[in-house]
Amino acid sequence: MVVIGLTGGIASGKSTAARYLAEKGAHMIDADKLGHRVYQAGRPAFDRVVAAFGDDVVGDDGEIDRRVLGGKVFGSPAQLKRLTDIAWPEILAMAIEEIGKARDDGASVVVLEAAVLLEANWQSDVDEVWVVAVEPEMALARATARDGVDEAAVQARIDAQLSNAERVAIADVVIDNGGSEAELFSKLDAEWHRVRCASLEAAS
Ligand code: ATP
Repeated sequence: MVVIGLTGGIASGKSTAARYLAEKGAHMIDADKLGHRVYQAGRPAFDRVVAAFGDDVVGDDGEIDRRVLGGKVFGSPAQLKRLTDIAWPEILAMAIEEIGKARDDGASVVVLEAAVLLEANWQSDVDEVWVVAVEPEMALARATARDGVDEAAVQARIDAQLSNAERVAIADVVIDNGGSEAELFSKLDAEWHRVRCASLEAAS
């Protein structure tokens, strides 16, 4: 089995690539979705978040109120780090558990889609890092068209992220998504073929 970590900056095309790889038959794990479950009551991160940020982050329903929690970390890199130091290891543990289940189910290719893959330092937990990359101008254009938000907000997020050069330096595979979707899919086809062959060879 081959485990791919799929990442990239805002509006680089991660989700588009992930949907395509799912159609090809990859077992998909979405770190964003795990991130929505990580603070659920009963999970280890719940108590740690409450201890770190106060009882008022717990809503009337007994769950973490993500809006209140978001307000506490907004604009404070130190507080945000405090939160990600709690959340990221837990999300990784959940992903590793899912990877184990996929292995037991006989999956040949698993794709962990994670915007924060490199920031969270998960590259050694996957076999290959695939970075989807577009020039910042194109990310800006695609993000504003998709989300209907203003350019300054998107630009601020681009500036706060790792640069393409930093991502590419760590990547095993760089998928340039500066062209059409068809071009993106054909690059993915080539890489998909390579990993499928590798995983079949390893299994034989
Ligand atoms: P984010 O992390 O910001 O959610 P993402 O990396 O998952 O973004 P997508 O949502 O896949 O990126 O793509 C961003 C936008 O660009 C979407 O509206 C998508 O349809 C569009 N898009 C992606 N790839 C292409 C392409 N090759 N040509 C034209 N539009 C594209």
